[in-house]
Formats: sequence, structure tokens, C-alpha cells
Amino acid sequence: MWRAAAVRALRGGGAGAPRAASGSAAAQLRRRLESELEDIRGAGTWKSERIIASRQGPHLHLAGGGAGIINFCANNYLGLSSHPEVIRAAVEALEKFGAGLSSVRFICGTQSIHKDLEEKIARFHQREDAILYASCFDANAGIFEALLTPEDAVLSDELNHASIIDGIRLCKANKYRYRHMDMQDLEAKLKEAQKHRLRLVATDGAFSMDGDIAPLREICQLAQQYDALVFIDECHATGFLGPNGRGTDELLGVMDKVTIINSTLGKALGGAAGGYTTGPKPLIDLLRQRSRPYLFSNSLPPAVVGCASKALDLLMESNAIAQSMAAKTQRFRSKMTAAGFTISGKDHPICPVMLGDARLASVMAEDMLNRGIYVIGFSYPVVPKGKARIRVQISAVHSDEDIDRCVEAFTEVGRKHGALS
Ligand code: PLP
Repeated sequence: MWRAAAVRALRGGGAGAPRAASGSAAAQLRRRLESELEDIRGAGTWKSERIIASRQGPHLHLAGGGAGIINFCANNYLGLSSHPEVIRAAVEALEKFGAGLSSVRFICGTQSIHKDLEEKIARFHQREDAILYASCFDANAGIFEALLTPEDAVLSDELNHASIIDGIRLCKANKYRYRHMDMQDLEAKLKEAQKHRLRLVATDGAFSMDGDIAPLREICQLAQQYDALVFIDECHATGFLGPNGRGTDELLGVMDKVTIINSTLGKALGGAAGGYTTGPKPLIDLLRQRSRPYLFSNSLPPAVVGCASKALDLLMESNAIAQSMAAKTQRFRSKMTAAGFTISGKDHPICPVMLGDARLASVMAEDMLNRGIYVIGFSYPVVPKGKARIRVQISAVHSDEDIDRCVEAFTEVGRKHGALS
């Protein structure tokens, strides 16, 4: 035995070393995967992960050296991911309620804090009830299948988030895809869908690649005219859009016309994890009976619940944080436009700096990091061909100096690479 162990150790196969599965099927799979990975590299669409060695905040330490980097690519819109009160609430919840529930909600995975958070979410959005999920991806995966049958129809914006697209794929309703924010096309599809029992229009409230906001007033008007329900995904709106940060429906004055809201706890609301659906009570009751990601996945850990609950308290006490983020967004957008850049979208903290060329976006993002500014370039297939960009995300915890340094770095790098004259 010792001899086999020594041979294994010499071959690098000691205890803890990865074991490669043997057999021709495993070898065939390995070859296929390696070739697929090579194709992704060859297509220039390889996504690598930069390792952060500090908290999520306006300034970061990157593993391997980079310190004091200014972070402009988090969805930490309100800066609550490292807010001292949010962290304290998580620690208290961890100590009082433990690490986790080892169970789904309906078996023994519901604690008082889960019910309190659901009640708080419903109150925040002024809806009847809410249900928690492990993520908004799960909330989107669960809702359409539970709600819609082959007798019904769902009408979806072509640029909706991948999780909405996947959720719709899972349901058996009739599917209509309308052109991005195109109300004429939506109307045509609504007319076509009159033959079905129920119609649900599904849209992102704010679209994360372009920073543009769905024309909810017009969508709700069409929905009323053609007897449809409206569903919005508010991941990039909850907590900061609208006078009180309630989201796109508040911003556009249609809170009483949107039936269902899905959103995340993993962005502005503390940034830990978790998602939810909020809307009419019978819908939430039905989701507790039928929604598969809810029925077959573990409860949210208490520390995560504690973070989100405190984030909502802070937002319900005051809208000062959201207003400070809006002012900083305005500062960045106007200074960049004055410098000669085109920024897509309007008034949203997602500020895509439009460059067109994929290589240009990638080298400029790299050069920005050399100047201490962390931003990410996006190109095809994440965005359409010829529409490459660097996406900048503004947070309430950026200082005016951070914003100005970012604009200065863009100006230098843009001139160097010919994006600015
Ligand atoms: N919907 C939208 C519009 C998103 O941007 C995201 C996250 O990127 C999700 C859903 C998924 O949210 P979560 O991270 O909570 O799964």
C-alpha cells in the first residue's frame, strides 16, 4: 500500500490531488470540451475573472498587487455592500439564527426573519405580498411556468435578461418576442395574442447593457387597451429609481398598473444574494405551492436576509443615498459628454461609453486599469456587433474626485487610442 501511495505521490497523484476519470467516454468528453474552450478563446469572447482581495467598495485591492483601484463595474449602486450597518445586521442575524437552514422553506426552512423580510419587501413596493428566492435568476425561472399555461401568452422584449428568457422557455405559454422597446411592434403582437386566455407583457425595467429604461407608461397603456398584465424585472432599478427608490414603476408613475415585480437583493439592496417576486397575494400563494426553484432549493441564509432587511430599512428611512447616486451619475454623464464621448441611456447609473470596435473597448479597458480605474469592455455576443462599449457603473459611495479621475483617465486613454480627437 505504501508503495502505491509513494508512486502516486511521485506522479503528483497524492491525497487531495485531482483524479481524472478514466475510460474512453471521459477521454472523448475531455477532447470535446478542450476544443470548445479553444473555439471560445479563438472567437475572442473568453471571460476571465479578476480576483478581488478586499471588500466590495468604491476602492479595491486586486489579488497580486493592484491596490487603491477605483471600482466602476459593480452593481453596488448605493454602496450598501460594505455599509457598516448592513454588515452588523448580517453578523447579528448569523449569531442569532445560525449559518443556514439545511432545508427548503416548506420543510423547516422558514424563520421569522424570512417572513419579516417578505413583509418588508411587499411594503417597500406597495404590493400585497412577496416571496423570497435564492436569486432573481430563480425568481424568473419560477414565475412563468407557475403562472402561464398553453392557453396563455407571454410577450417579451427581445433584449430582456437571460433569466427572463430562460424562465419563459420553461413555460408552455404561447411566446411572442417584440423588438426592443418598440411600442408599435408590441401593439401588433398584443393584437395577435388576443386569441389567448391571458396575456403577460414581460420587460426589464432598466436594461443593463444600455442603461435605458423601458417605456412603462406606454407599455401599461397598451396593456390596459389589450387586456394584458405587466411584469417587470427591477434588478437595475430597485432601491434607486424614482423619487423614493421604489423603481421604474415609481419613476414613471405607474405603480398601480404593474402587476408583478421580480427583483434582486444582490445589487443595490446590500449586494449579498437573493431575489423575490412581489405582487397580488393569490399569485404569491400560488408560487409557494408551484414554483420549482422555491420548492426545491434551500432557504436564504440568515446573514443574507439580515443584510437585505437592513438595506431596506435604510432606504425606507431616507432617500438621501439614492439622491447622492443620482447626482454622481449626472456628474459623470455630463463630464464625459463634454469630453466628447457618447454615453448610452439616460439618467441611469449604468453609463455605457460607446466605442463601436471590440478591440478598442478591450485595450482601452486594460489601459484604464493601468491608470487605477477598473471598468469592463463588452463586445459581441454580449452586445450586438459593432456596438462594443465600456460599461461604467456609478455608485453613491464614489466621491466627486473618483468620478473626475475616471473622466480624466477616459480622456487620456481615449486620445491615446484614437477614440477622441
Ligand atoms: N435580471 C436582471 C435584469 C439581471 O441583471 C440579473 C443579474 O445580473 C438577474 C435578473 C439575476 O439576478 P440574481 O443575481 O439575483 O440572480
